[in-house]
Amino acid sequence: MTEWRVPLADVAIGPEELSAVSDVLRSGWLSMGPVTAEFEAHFAAYIGVKHAIAVTNGTAALHLAHAALGAGLGDTVICPSLTFVATANAIRYTGARPVFADIAGVHDFNISAAAIAAKIDASTKGICVVHYGGHPCDMTAIMQLARAHGLYVVEDAAHAPGAACHMPVVHEDAGEDALAMHPCGTIGDVGCFSFFANKNMTTGEGGMVTTNDDALAARLRRLRSHGMTSLTWDRHRGHSASYDVVDWGYNYRIDELRSALGLAQLRRLKTDNRKRAEIAQAYTAQLQPLDGLEIPFYTSMTAPSNLSSFHLYPVLLKDASTRAQFRSFMQRQGVQTSIHYPAIHRFSRYQGTAAEGDLPLTDEVAQRVVTLPLYAGMRPEQRDGVLQAIRQWQALRAA
Ligand SMILES: *Cc1c(COP(=O)(O)O)cnc(C)c1O
Repeated sequence: MTEWRVPLADVAIGPEELSAVSDVLRSGWLSMGPVTAEFEAHFAAYIGVKHAIAVTNGTAALHLAHAALGAGLGDTVICPSLTFVATANAIRYTGARPVFADIAGVHDFNISAAAIAAKIDASTKGICVVHYGGHPCDMTAIMQLARAHGLYVVEDAAHAPGAACHMPVVHEDAGEDALAMHPCGTIGDVGCFSFFANKNMTTGEGGMVTTNDDALAARLRRLRSHGMTSLTWDRHRGHSASYDVVDWGYNYRIDELRSALGLAQLRRLKTDNRKRAEIAQAYTAQLQPLDGLEIPFYTSMTAPSNLSSFHLYPVLLKDASTRAQFRSFMQRQGVQTSIHYPAIHRFSRYQGTAAEGDLPLTDEVAQRVVTLPLYAGMRPEQRDGVLQAIRQWQALRAA
């Protein structure tokens, strides 16, 4: 393994995490039970949503969401291509087909409401948005569109725990009200979170599904555990002697060890997101004036009305042909970079899912984007090391 001076991401594990996990080991109950219920309750309270359902990973969360919302053979679900492949794979698991819509612009990597509108047809069942890097999508326009066409909305909020969208309060009876902050993962029908090791909070592998709909929550809980009407924990406590199976369910349960980790990580989230924001602002202040680089989401970072969770810090190179060179230069300086994301419609298995020239902005960004290191525990000298390496590269190119 390369020893990076500045890795792309890093996990914060302290004594709280260690003792939370060893408490579970000592308790003698490891599979989903009371610690998971506590994790779900705390996460729901933190996000401000009625139901939170913990699952094995973010991909399982997405699969459950589309399954519970009734996607199936013959349906299509509109989603971005500039995202992790799980966003689209999870749609495929239900038999439905993902249809890719372009992003809003080369400086706004989120799915465009206008591009979604252009893709809606008789087969469209729903929309899956991704809050790229923790920057909220244009949910006002997307929710209006979904309501007008009777489509469901899943929020892939894998990057966005603690992010929020500044948008009108919509009452079912009273129409629109004042603007307010709406947490990501509570705006659509279902929100999906990932607690993979490089996300803003982690359980190693893990995920969460959120919804304000009681019936949907019950269905999501059943689908998480084989479509069964009671859980092992309920039977252990004598609350239930047997069970029925009422759905084609899965085993997407989380375990108590991960839930204990999640509870400890959740306590760090607010402070950690603030630290991420500070590093992102420092990056932006230093990089914005530089030639040869563009800062996407620049306006939303410098004049924020939304609240970002700053999961990723992407930059755009002016010249795509310099990307490999730039990344190997950074590597020689000990700085790890990545690409978020190679466009899904360009992968072999997804060949033919978009016509040539149909997603021009996605294609352009996928060629020019580079992700810089960003994590809450980044030390000032690490942040400055990244900036210095970029300045050196600029100087070399100018020479
Ligand atoms: C990480 C991620 C996922 C998948 O989550 P896992 O927990 O790794 O299964 C889905 N969508 C996006 C946008 C992600 O970044």
